[in-house]
Amino acid sequence: MTLFSRSHSATTPPVTSTVMGMTTSASVPAGSQGGIQDTVTDRLVAANARYAAEFTDPGMDAHPVLRVAIVACMDARLDLHAALGLELGDCHTIRNAGGVVTDDVIRSLTISQRALGTRSVVLIHHTNCGLETITEDFRHELEMEVGQRPAWAVEAFRDAEQDVRQSMQRVRTSPFLLHTDDVRGFVFDVKTGLLREIDPA
Ligand SMILES: [Zn+2]
Repeated sequence: MTLFSRSHSATTPPVTSTVMGMTTSASVPAGSQGGIQDTVTDRLVAANARYAAEFTDPGMDAHPVLRVAIVACMDARLDLHAALGLELGDCHTIRNAGGVVTDDVIRSLTISQRALGTRSVVLIHHTNCGLETITEDFRHELEMEVGQRPAWAVEAFRDAEQDVRQSMQRVRTSPFLLHTDDVRGFVFDVKTGLLREIDPA
């Protein structure tokens, strides 16, 4: 499955490269093909046209087939569907910076469980996360720059494993969720592609 499998000009090389069996588009920035000033969004829209041309309505409703919601970091190196063997329609994916369990993640999990029937929660942080490189000082720096302190916490962490534990605890203690008995947490290794399960204790 390649998102950017064709360049926009016949005279330029394909825009994909293969790294360790994965198809990536990292080697070619948007707007560099044959002088065409396409933006990255233009490329996405073009890819969608090709996707839709092959697409057939799977005829599913919105209830995830595997009854699982996955909360993960937004990191570009984490391909959740490929890494977990997931197919279209299998799960809810809720992603943010760090994969931390914020109030908004609880909002999505609550809707996922109460309106759309999920039962299990999987939490995924990963090695080499950007959240390990900043601190809560980031909020102060923002306030100094723009004159307004953000209402949200940065949710920076030093230790992904410990933050997975905290995230599991937040899910398990949420009063809004119906199902908190099957909550498991992992750290994904971006170098090996392997998940390591975190003991909640
Ligand atoms: Zn991350």
